[in-house]
Amino acid sequence: MSEADDLLRWFDAERRDLPWRRSRDPYRIWLSEVMLQQTRVETARPYFERFVERFPTVDALAAAEIEPVLGLWSGLGYYRRARQLHAAAREIVAGGGGFPSTTEELLKLPGIGPYTAAAVASIAFGQVVPVLDGNVERVMSRHLALELDPKKSAGRRRLTAAAATLLDPTRPGDSNQALMELGATICKPRAPRCDECPLTPGCRALATGAPESYPFMAARRKQVRQRHVCVVASNGTRILLFRRPDDSELLAGIWEIPWVPAESSSRPELRLEETYGGSWSLGRHLGRVRHSITYRALEIDVVLGEVDAAGSLGEGREAGWFTLDEIAGLPSSSLVGKILRRAGKV
Ligand code: SF4
Repeated sequence: MSEADDLLRWFDAERRDLPWRRSRDPYRIWLSEVMLQQTRVETARPYFERFVERFPTVDALAAAEIEPVLGLWSGLGYYRRARQLHAAAREIVAGGGGFPSTTEELLKLPGIGPYTAAAVASIAFGQVVPVLDGNVERVMSRHLALELDPKKSAGRRRLTAAAATLLDPTRPGDSNQALMELGATICKPRAPRCDECPLTPGCRALATGAPESYPFMAARRKQVRQRHVCVVASNGTRILLFRRPDDSELLAGIWEIPWVPAESSSRPELRLEETYGGSWSLGRHLGRVRHSITYRALEIDVVLGEVDAAGSLGEGREAGWFTLDEIAGLPSSSLVGKILRRAGKV
């Protein structure tokens, strides 16, 4: 038996029952792959189920406005993914030729990179192409005991070629999913369970006695700590939120409770006025919340505040006063929930 056979036999016995694995529908497979970028399986699962219930086909997604799409994405983070998914759905439907079935065609769509294209083409359409996600990178780096950075082109070429040798040409999608599953459940970053792994006989990292020392680690981008002040302004039952501009680097189009960097050189009231308009006065400090966005580790002081709008509120961006129920239905980051809890609003 070849290693490719061993891998598939293991997958057939051990595969997790996940909602996107119950069909070969390319739309569902694509959606799941997009959601699973930067998001854990257990977190993504309920989002996926709600999303396909509301938008069961690519046509349904293409016909929707962006607001409800972002609303269903609220809390998953990396909202650019949802915008690109929506834009790509519109391109697919406008093209009129059905769902693209090859990596070459899929790569032309917004937000679809080599990994997603290979995953959709192999799982939904049986194209014999290897995928290389973080899990596969780790498994193959260990299997080869590769002394190259998997993020650089030489390392990627070696890993892609090695992953291709593990593809069963009659079931390439399952072979790819098997490698991803192996990385997610057995060949984990810490304490890989090599005694349960179907690739044990040929694994060079295991033979070195130190499988955890692979993949080769390049220096990571350092986390940057940032302090902010966030202002909860309410007019009785409603709370003031702003919508971030569509071209924001972070959280584009997402509703937020006003917040500004805490800088010793500038009073927060002035930064609030510059960013959101109006004239601000700050009240009681309610506590601090921590939140991470990509490499930024944010410490956010939550304070009560009041704003005198005087007609200038929300200059350049949408603003609104919302009840808690309405906020729950807005596209917003999980940071909004953290701030409202700290403020004792929920
Ligand atoms: S034998 Fe161990 S290190 Fe090698 S691929 Fe399997 S789980 Fe990973």
